[in-house]
Amino acid sequence: MADERTTGVASNAPEGATVYDVVIIGSGPAGYTAAIYAARANLRTLVLQGEQLGGQLMITSEVENYPGFEDGVLGPELMDKFEKQARRFGAEMVPQDVTKVDFSAQPFTLWTYNKQYQGHSVIIATGASAKWLGLPNEQRLQGRGVSGCATCDGFFFREKAIAVVGGGDTAMEEALFLTRYASQVHLLHRRDSFRASKIMQQRVQSNPKITIHYNSEVMDVLGENAVEGLTLRDTQTGATSTLPVQGFFVAIGHQPNTELFKGILEMDAVGYLKPATHTMTSIPGVFLAGDVADARYRQAVTAAGEGCRAAIDAERWLESRGEVNEQTAEDAAAWGALNETHDAASDAERDATSAAR
Ligand SMILES: Cc1cc2nc3c(=O)[nH]c(=O)nc-3n(C[C@H](O)[C@H](O)[C@H](O)COP(=O)(O)OP(=O)(O)OC[C@H]3O[C@@H](n4cnc5c(N)ncnc54)[C@H](O)[C@@H]3O)c2cc1C
Repeated sequence: MADERTTGVASNAPEGATVYDVVIIGSGPAGYTAAIYAARANLRTLVLQGEQLGGQLMITSEVENYPGFEDGVLGPELMDKFEKQARRFGAEMVPQDVTKVDFSAQPFTLWTYNKQYQGHSVIIATGASAKWLGLPNEQRLQGRGVSGCATCDGFFFREKAIAVVGGGDTAMEEALFLTRYASQVHLLHRRDSFRASKIMQQRVQSNPKITIHYNSEVMDVLGENAVEGLTLRDTQTGATSTLPVQGFFVAIGHQPNTELFKGILEMDAVGYLKPATHTMTSIPGVFLAGDVADARYRQAVTAAGEGCRAAIDAERWLESRGEVNEQTAEDAAAWGALNETHDAASDAERDATSAAR
């Protein structure tokens, strides 16, 4: 079926080379879910997994909010299941980073450090990495009290004292959210004022569970097997002190992994990629899924949902290239509009049928 969909399309692929229907970049929840859908739809599917196999959940322990696991599941175990499910339907995997892409001609070309791959469509699912402070013991205590995600880990800190570092809206939001669980939240900022919006600052200032520490720089995280405290330095006096806390949330922002696509795809000021029509970018055949295009939710289940959307969009787009006029396939807006018209027509048909029953 995949072959039929892609025959009749002008190709600049070297003779004999495999041209995949879909090449997915990234192996987090978004990439693997896209692979499950694409491979199960009989598309020749390649996942260029990247060096961080399994994505961000590989560096966490318990995941308690992924549906279907009533007792929770370890992050690496969950991602192992994702990968096996994608392989079961025939998705091929290469555990390498993509170092260069060419989306200027069909089929698209992607390079890793030692090989070149081609695909009629590409799904970008490269994620967004939490920014860390780079403290000596920060990495070692990740998943043991150091976290980059209040929504994910706040629940583990019921009735505990915790600290949040940051000065923007994200830090305010995380601190406020964490007051639902923690006995006390220390909000640490190295400057003498926040850059967060006034409204968020007011909410933080009026919350009795939050103690604000201006001019406080975090120097290190303390604890052998779990977080026991922080070493702070007063940026005005230089004096150091210890703050006893059991949790430490770093809320200084995320960096989308989009360096590769600079000058090729549209992105916002931070670097998040922007879709043009549904999950498709302004380059027809190039789709987005997961945290790489989502500054707002950044959850495993939303990333997986986006992977599903992108794979369905890629499948429909590939199909449209064979079945519909060229303009539809080459113009993102026309492609989306066609599907909406088509959907509206199907809806009307379905409504008429059920009214007649
Ligand atoms: C410590 C921690 C705990 C978390 N806990 C939870 C939780 O409990 N529940 C929850 O829902 N969410 C949690 N999250 C958030 C969740 O992990 C993310 O929202 C989710 O992983 C995003 O999925 P993704 O597929 O978009 O990207 P990611 O998981 O970030 O995966 C990105 C993938 O892209 C690959 N990649 C990057 N660049 C390249 C390249 N150049 N070439 C090839 N591949 C590349 C990487 O190797 C990686 O495989 C947590 C996050 C962290 C950091």
